[in-house]
Order: sequence, then C-alpha cells, then structure tokens
Amino acid sequence: MAKRKRNIVSCAACRVQRKKCSEECIFAPHFPQDAPEKFTVVHSVYGTNYVIKLLQGLEIQQRADAANNLVCEASARVKDPIQGSAGVIHELQKRISDLESQLASKQQELMNMHSMFDKILFPMCDGSCDSQDILYHTSSTEDIMYEELGSVLWEPI
Ligand SMILES: [Zn+2]
Repeated sequence: MAKRKRNIVSCAACRVQRKKCSEECIFAPHFPQDAPEKFTVVHSVYGTNYVIKLLQGLEIQQRADAANNLVCEASARVKDPIQGSAGVIHELQKRISDLESQLASKQQELMNMHSMFDKILFPMCDGSCDSQDILYHTSSTEDIMYEELGSVLWEPI
C-alpha cells in the first residue's frame, strides 16, 4: 500500500514567493493562507530574506510576537514612509498631552465651581468651611443641609 502525502495548503508567504510550502515552513504558523495581506506588507517593506533570518534567529515561542510586530511596523511604514510607527507613537503622545491639558482645565473649572459653591453655601465662613468635605461624605443635598444646619446653625435649645 502506497503512503499518501498529506496535502498541504500553501501559506501566504509561499504563495507570494510561488514556492511549495512544507510542514517545516518557517512562515506557515505566522502567515496563514487566509491572511495574505500580512505577508505582502512585510515582504514589501523588509523583504523575505530579512524575515527568514529574523525568525530563524529567535526561539520558536518568540516568533509569533516577532511576526506580529513585523506586520504592525510594516503597515505603519506603508502608511507613513517617513516616520512609520514612530509617527503613530508621536501622534498618540500628542493626544495624551492634549487630553491631560483638557483634564487639568476641567479640574480647575471644578475647583472654581467648588469655590463658588462654598461662597454661596457659607457666605460668612472664614475659609474653614469646605463644601467638598460635605459633598464627599454625604449622599444627597438634603443630607448636606441637615448636616450643615445641625452642626453650625442649629443649636439645641
Ligand atoms: Zn509556507
């Protein structure tokens, strides 16, 4: 009885290179045939020989992360040929900085509102009254009024 060879579906890398894929193909686990765009972008930026050398130089358990990083880096390089992924990082850092500025501005607005609230609630206060303490330790406006009235304005007869 003749032994049948297993029919191997070529991985994306072997298809692009028009080579026959094997069970030992270094690309197959990372560039499956159903996602050819991953290898195409990596191939266009780094070239096949570089990818082979890189993957061969790594432990098997590191290769998936390396392949995914190559795809991300190559995709970024195609979108922005000058800066690549550094451009994406720069843009994200700028967004973080903008959002931190907005947060600082909103926190300042909140502090100003607390200050105005204190002046309305405690017009005769010497500065020791703080609506933030009351707001954080009570659950409703009614509680604030009772708490404040009970401790400051209402004296037991
Ligand atoms: Zn292959």
